[in-house]
Amino acid sequence: MGIECDYLVIGSGIAGLSFALEAAARGGNVVVVTKRKVNESATAHAQGGIAAVLDPQDSFENHAADTLTAGRGLSHADVVDMVVRDGPQRITELIELGATFSMAEAGASGEPRLDLTKEGGHSARRVVHAEDITGREVQRALGAAALHADRIRILEDHMAVDLIDLTKLGMGSGVGGAYVLDGQHGRVHTVVARATLLACGGAGKVYLYTTNPDVATGDGVAMAYRAGAQIANMEFFQFHPTCLYHPQAKSFLISEAMRGEGGVLRLRDGTAFMDRHHPQKDLAPRDVVARAIDYELKRTGADCVFLDMSSQSPEYLRERFPNIHEKCLCYGIDMTQEPIPVVPAAHYMCGGVVVDVEGRTTVPGLWAAGETSCTGLHGANRLASNSLLEGLVYGRRAAQSMLTHAGQRRLVVPPDWDVGEAAPSDEAVIVAHLWDELRRFMWNYVGIVRSDKRLQRAARRIALLQEEIREYYWKHLVTVDLLELRNIADVAELIVACAQFRKESRGLHCNMDHPELRDEDCGGDTVITLGEAPRLHSAQ
Ligand SMILES: Cc1cc2nc3c(=O)[nH]c(=O)nc-3n(C[C@H](O)[C@H](O)[C@H](O)COP(=O)(O)OP(=O)(O)OC[C@H]3O[C@@H](n4cnc5c(N)ncnc54)[C@H](O)[C@@H]3O)c2cc1C
Repeated sequence: MGIECDYLVIGSGIAGLSFALEAAARGGNVVVVTKRKVNESATAHAQGGIAAVLDPQDSFENHAADTLTAGRGLSHADVVDMVVRDGPQRITELIELGATFSMAEAGASGEPRLDLTKEGGHSARRVVHAEDITGREVQRALGAAALHADRIRILEDHMAVDLIDLTKLGMGSGVGGAYVLDGQHGRVHTVVARATLLACGGAGKVYLYTTNPDVATGDGVAMAYRAGAQIANMEFFQFHPTCLYHPQAKSFLISEAMRGEGGVLRLRDGTAFMDRHHPQKDLAPRDVVARAIDYELKRTGADCVFLDMSSQSPEYLRERFPNIHEKCLCYGIDMTQEPIPVVPAAHYMCGGVVVDVEGRTTVPGLWAAGETSCTGLHGANRLASNSLLEGLVYGRRAAQSMLTHAGQRRLVVPPDWDVGEAAPSDEAVIVAHLWDELRRFMWNYVGIVRSDKRLQRAARRIALLQEEIREYYWKHLVTVDLLELRNIADVAELIVACAQFRKESRGLHCNMDHPELRDEDCGGDTVITLGEAPRLHSAQ
């Protein structure tokens, strides 16, 4: 089956839906394809909130300065300035769309006021939130608006397999849509579009432990890379220090506030260890705690460490952390009586598909927004709550840009997906095994603390796995599992290549063989394109 539209959006999180609503409001016909149900995204899991300057005591300059500090010299100042200045208006639009955020008590004027919280790295109260389920509320509001919009068609359970590369096909230039697998019927459709937006979110599933939902397999980065787009800064992957460690618990965050309330990290034998790593012990910054846990796990060979909350009474813990208490009980862990097993987990991909301030990639016909993209906002580390903001800002900007620049692009109908001699997958066990193997060695060799030797080992293994995956891919009909495996392998290749290229430690990239920050020869973005070695784009 062939589908034609003006604008194809791949992904239905905050970036994809912000784009779709803006493009449709300006008269474009939009098709949104999404891997599962419309509201299944990282956006829906976001807890903290969205950063924006809304307090009269705060300023754009302060928000920009905090963002630049987190980015350790690699954030692009022009992008940072633009994003923080767009923030307040985007929040107003979300509220007009129907999103409900937590309110503070009215001030002296009697005017209702948003409740703004403060998070690590922010110098002012500027985080808009809906209790501790901000993402769920934002996703609900955007999803409901998109489902009711006239010119938006949403195809659930439709996974983009690859971009239609018109250049490669000799039928034009750049990207002309995507081949999309209809997961219910197992058929691959051709979706032809004047322009395409990648809004596929992050890639936490590349790692064994992650806070990300199952859809986060880096499909956007992998597809863009295969289509010849520039990719940047993939070595900067943010890890959250404490995720519940339990075979059945997928991606459940144990809030950092628990350490703020007296929680102590301990080894299995009860030894507290944070005093060996930082003077602030358990209250050290997020990346320091993640690195310390990683160090102890590697040193002892243990699977997890433990968060001991015994300094607080059971009554207090039940009242202060009702969700965490309840969730842990579901897994047979009573945190009022015993320590909680935790591991750090892959949380956020700072790198991605290189875009300009309008969300344009380096390939004609292709735009990107949200976690899939690398805009220059985050640099070497992301400031908390800046990612939802980035998705909102760039989703809208990409729509405006695409309507200006892509309206005239021709619709080109390429050959349909050819299954050739491919047979139904007969050995799913191979796919499952490769998934596990890849995620495990990415965790062990390319995780929080890296070394030249580990990166080299990982690179060799990835090359071998990619060969096996390629072989399987060409012989068998595509399935979601197989496509995701192919994508996480490509993303793993990119992370390792960028990490090997950066011979220093900066922000989220820590290599024990190169512990110094070296501005003289590493002070720029790592940029990589298919078939070429990584190179440095010096900071502006
Ligand atoms: C637990 C958790 C807590 C967080 N808390 C915060 C927070 O408080 N504040 C903050 O700013 N950020 C937070 N983040 C980060 C933030 O949620 C994400 O960076 C952001 O939501 C990404 O939005 P997105 O639109 O780019 O992608 P997503 O919201 O992940 O959406 C991606 C979409 O693409 C679809 N997709 C992927 N591949 C394909 C494909 N091949 N074909 C079709 N569809 C595809 C997915 O199904 C999904 O619909 C948190 C993240 C997590 C995991």
